[in-house]
Amino acid sequence: MASSMTHFEEPGHEALPVYELRLGGSWRPAGDGRTYAAVNPFTDQAWAYAPEATSADVDTAVAAARTALHGPWGEMTGAERARHLRSLATVLEEEAEHLAAIETRGNGKLLRETMAQAASLPGYYQYFAGLADKLEGTTIPADKPGYFMYTRREPVGVVAAIMAWNSPLLLLTWKLAPALAAGCTVVAKPSAYTPVSTLEFARCVERAGLPDGVFNVVTGSGADVGQQLVKHPDVDKVTFTGSTQTGIAVGKAAMENVTRVSLELGGKSAQVVFADAELEAAAIGVVSGIFAATGQTCVAGSRLVVEQSAHDEIVARLVHHAEKIRLGDPVDPASEMGPLANKPQLAKVSALVQRAVEQGAHVAAGGRVSRELGGLFFEPTILTGVRPDMEIAREEVFGPVLAVMRFDDEDEAVALANDTRFGLAAGLWTENVRRAHRVAHRLEAGTVWINAYRMVAPNAPFGGVKLSGIGRENGRDAVQEYLETKTIWLALNEAEGRDPFSIG
Ligand code: NAP
Repeated sequence: MASSMTHFEEPGHEALPVYELRLGGSWRPAGDGRTYAAVNPFTDQAWAYAPEATSADVDTAVAAARTALHGPWGEMTGAERARHLRSLATVLEEEAEHLAAIETRGNGKLLRETMAQAASLPGYYQYFAGLADKLEGTTIPADKPGYFMYTRREPVGVVAAIMAWNSPLLLLTWKLAPALAAGCTVVAKPSAYTPVSTLEFARCVERAGLPDGVFNVVTGSGADVGQQLVKHPDVDKVTFTGSTQTGIAVGKAAMENVTRVSLELGGKSAQVVFADAELEAAAIGVVSGIFAATGQTCVAGSRLVVEQSAHDEIVARLVHHAEKIRLGDPVDPASEMGPLANKPQLAKVSALVQRAVEQGAHVAAGGRVSRELGGLFFEPTILTGVRPDMEIAREEVFGPVLAVMRFDDEDEAVALANDTRFGLAAGLWTENVRRAHRVAHRLEAGTVWINAYRMVAPNAPFGGVKLSGIGRENGRDAVQEYLETKTIWLALNEAEGRDPFSIG
């Protein structure tokens, strides 16, 4: 395997790895040789250097992806692509621990979470390998005599995949696995905060023997590298995971070239708890929804909508659990919540909580930056007395902050849960099976979990409604995001007698 890194030594400092870009079949430093430091959020120290891709590097990556599309990859049958996806799954199985450790260094998530994510990656490549040879067109009976008509499902082409920092490899996989199954080639741009895991992942792709140029990685900032990819005239599709604000800008920029777009965006998901729920199970579900991953998950159940008669009991249970959560080093198996991933995040979470209190919310638990551990820790926070018009009930926090609101009846519960511009996910806690389905149907969200939260799987379609996004990842639908339909007409007879001046 070609080397993808060197080491950078500063006097008195441990040598840090210096990574290179993956462009076509080569590992290369950025065109102008520039690198920047990737910072470990737990130690607040640089732990690696990543290349800052130039605009020429982006062009090279897109050109390599185009060449691969027109080369051996484009010629392959679905069954051959499936074999490559399965090889990649095997390598990822072997590398899971290594990749999880890199993810944790990069974004500060608990190793137990990144390990579970890394261990799940092969399943996605296996699942989409199973679909790669089933991308069937249809034969359509022509509506006039003498014609044969059919459709082909063709890869959309070169895909730019742009991801957030919170789960870099899982988010990448949700794009890459279906894109490869469809026959596309990919240029990936991870967040500038977490560049390394995607570059390490590219080594796995290389080891799995995928043809050169099928998977390329450019690292650097969203404003430069990301934007250039989105506007690139030779990119056929942009698949983006990130904030709604950036997603809207990405969508507008892509439209200048009528580039196809899928968007996985932010959320303000509700956890609706009825008084007839198993309250301890609901409390644990709410804790997992908002405090797991330090609340830095797109599906964070950041609004608790609870029936009036159960309010005090569930809040008491939640406070009890929140106060016991062990903040700590993400690699320590005893830790239950790690730091926030970067300083702007910490500043944003603190400011939102402070403004919520100024607007009348009551702090039932947490509410402050936790200084004992250094790093970027914020206490697990529960805010009661939240009104639906408050900023804390409307804006995505992307941190460990729960806003609690009350309802009196089912209609009010649904109205409160749906009173948001977002629509990514929702949780619903009740022991009444009829109500469970009835309310699930009325909730405006791409995914509803009943008496559960934060479940994902390769075969479960995932995505948002409203401002939470466009398109679906995972499940059979996901491959469709990377395919175009071509219609082919064949005249079975000679053209004789056909009027050239009227439509057929
Ligand atoms: P973000 O600021 O929108 O960034 C997302 C990605 O877009 C990063 O790679 C970023 O690069 C890049 N980017 C920034 N500006 C760009 C531009 N003008 N053109 C092209 N790319 C650009 O989001 P984030 O703060 O990293 O992530 C948190 C957000 O992601 C939350 O809103 C969360 O809900 C959402 N999210 C959604 C899902 C989902 O599946 N729906 C999953 C996870 C996260 P740089 O970071 O290098 O600037």
